[in-house]
Amino acid sequence: QAKDAGRNSIRFFNPRMQATLDARMKLESALREGLDRGEFRLYYQPQVDRDGRLIGAEALLRWFPDGQLVGPDQFIPLAEETGLIVPLGQWVLDAACAQLSRWQQDEATRHLQLAVNVSARQFHEADFVERVRHSVEASGIDACGLKLELTESVVLEHVEEVVNRMHVLHELGVRFSLDDFGTGYSSLAYLRRLPLDQLKIDQGFVRGIVDHPEDAAIVDAIVAMSGSLGLATIAEGVETDEQWHVLLGSACQAGQGYLFGRPLPLEQWDALLLRESESV
Ligand code: C2E
Ligand code: MG
Ligand code: MG
Ligand code: MG
Repeated sequence: QAKDAGRNSIRFFNPRMQATLDARMKLESALREGLDRGEFRLYYQPQVDRDGRLIGAEALLRWFPDGQLVGPDQFIPLAEETGLIVPLGQWVLDAACAQLSRWQQDEATRHLQLAVNVSARQFHEADFVERVRHSVEASGIDACGLKLELTESVVLEHVEEVVNRMHVLHELGVRFSLDDFGTGYSSLAYLRRLPLDQLKIDQGFVRGIVDHPEDAAIVDAIVAMSGSLGLATIAEGVETDEQWHVLLGSACQAGQGYLFGRPLPLEQWDALLLRESESV
């Protein structure tokens, strides 16, 4: 009743705004129910080394309300705003660890690493470290196979706390990659303070790398700097042989993108693993 009155007063205030709010509330409750109903899936996108050999995957979240695929750009922002990203992110972490556990039980796949995206809100939850520890222990995995992808927005705030948390997780064996590197605002000064293992070169630079010397120069600089800091580099969004060629010329160590494979549902990913194991 109080809620109804509140809604009416908003509707009175601005009909367009009300429509937007209604749509958001619908999406929010659909997300919540979707989580209960098991409508989320992880897709796996291959990551390869300089020789094109499979070294792991990035887990990418997909939502299937009424069977239709919905991509993360359609719901992650709202999930972050509403805090739903916390249980959703926990689901992702548990599903990823369960998958890693399967890989680690098979000789042919035990070397594979699985990268998992972590949003700022999720990382800054009071019990984030404990939740990760729990997922790792419950699944029985060797945490070295788990790589958390943080964006610069995660490490921008409360740097002290971020460094502490990363150190605790690093002790467990968890690896860290800085996603979309080069697009954010993080100062180079604290790159060296964070226990990172890898910088992930944003696909924006990769896109322009063949036609725009500036992009190629930036990528060169990122790879060189990573090397001096003892970090590995991976390029995301690699779509063409030409792009990969330039990246190899910059001594970039790994790649991910449509050139090597799209994000795949589990059945197709397993088929890829099978082909991979037969080809060696
Ligand atoms: P991201 O982590 O930077 O992931 C890379 C995005 O680039 C993915 O989009 C992937 O499908 C896409 N991509 C990969 N290769 C290529 C390529 O060669 N060309 C082009 N044009 N695109 C490529 P996707 O799957 O739609 O995910 C978008 C973003 O949603 C991700 O960006 C990530 O920030 C977020 N996200 C995805 N899954 C999760 C999750 O489980 N948790 C959180 N917090 N965020 C997630
Ligand atoms: Mg990512
Ligand atoms: Mg990225
Ligand atoms: Mg990106």
